[in-house]
Amino acid sequence: MDINSELLSFISRSPTAFHAVENIRRFLLSAGYRELFEGEDWTVAPGDRVFVRRNGSSIIALRIPAQTPAGLMLAAAHSDSPSFKIKDNALIAGPDGYVRLNVEKYGGMLCAPWLDRPLSVAGRVTVRQDGALVSRLCDLQRPVALIPNVAIHMDRTVNEGKNYAAHVDMLPLYSLSPDRSLDALAAESLGVAEGDIVSKDLFLYPLAPGMLWGAEEEFISSPRLDDLQCVFGCLNGFLEAEDSQSIAGLCVFDNEEVGSGTRQGADSTLLGDVLRRVCAALGLDESGYLRLVANGFMVSADNAHAVHPNHGEYADRNDRPRMNGGIVIKYNANARYTTDSVSAAVFAEICRAEGVDVQCFTNRADKPGGSTLGNISLAHVSLDCVDIGLAQLAMHSCYETSGARDTEALVRAMRAYYSRSYRREGDTVHI
Ligand code: ZN
Repeated sequence: MDINSELLSFISRSPTAFHAVENIRRFLLSAGYRELFEGEDWTVAPGDRVFVRRNGSSIIALRIPAQTPAGLMLAAAHSDSPSFKIKDNALIAGPDGYVRLNVEKYGGMLCAPWLDRPLSVAGRVTVRQDGALVSRLCDLQRPVALIPNVAIHMDRTVNEGKNYAAHVDMLPLYSLSPDRSLDALAAESLGVAEGDIVSKDLFLYPLAPGMLWGAEEEFISSPRLDDLQCVFGCLNGFLEAEDSQSIAGLCVFDNEEVGSGTRQGADSTLLGDVLRRVCAALGLDESGYLRLVANGFMVSADNAHAVHPNHGEYADRNDRPRMNGGIVIKYNANARYTTDSVSAAVFAEICRAEGVDVQCFTNRADKPGGSTLGNISLAHVSLDCVDIGLAQLAMHSCYETSGARDTEALVRAMRAYYSRSYRREGDTVHI
């Protein structure tokens, strides 16, 4: 399979952050990584390959060098995407015989693309089993809902700009019969009794398959390219890299789309906890841990805005990222991105040596733009960091578009990155 087919397969099997992390876990297990559990004692030796999950929706994988580690080479991306979460009391019966799903927004999505698409439901279900509560992944994998538009004849102003009220306009139609609960469908897909389902974290997702398109198939479109394209690129680079003197780490955090402030998000103790415990298991004291952090680097990988074909005016005059133009390095004077001249130089030099193009993104000076997980994570583990991404259109649509050739560029860049070590010596850095 070529790299984009693999990417699309990964994305289609990852309708939620829980599924993305489970798929990453499987890749890691088949590459010889061993799972460590936060509630147990850890034994970690030089040369080990280990990973830790928290909440089943964030994961950190570490490759320990055979000799005393010299520093850290980390990358971070996010497992979640904007969606609609289904409320626990899921069904709204009536009026007019319709049964709708009771949903609320998860993250800041473009609403319009969610309309008139067959939608399915996936997430995590907590099941009563043998006297315990067990978390199970659930994916109905078939269309069970659709959010219908209002016909143009009934709302003549709809094409002049529409405010989508989540509580009114975004409720999906589910059935004409109140007899089939969502729990019944979930129970059927899990092979459990409906009465054994205790609670759920279920989300809508679009069933539309990803695809390559364009005169030369230069574009790739799919749900959740932000940020599973970066997750996939970092994961593959991580698995393919050669061993270095630094600890190589892949961090995939949940809840970036809602501010990262959960116990498994980038604004949690997760990364610091994992690094400290691994250092302790390797016989390093607190000073040794801080020395590793000081000789540490992080690539914060989250997709970037390509210049829009119909609205080039939203881009900066000079920094106009192109799809298939290589990896985007993101800058922001107000530190919404972590990039500075040193970290940009480190990443650009690694790309240059690998023959991977880089390009710049800055917001228009009068537009605040978005932010990402890099500087949030750095508040907990403060190492040198660069913000990067792949240029894409329609960020936070449920069907996004990026450059087909950029996937491989990211894999190559991250493979080269993870094969290096990072060391700081005063004002000099060695890679
Ligand atoms: Zn993102």
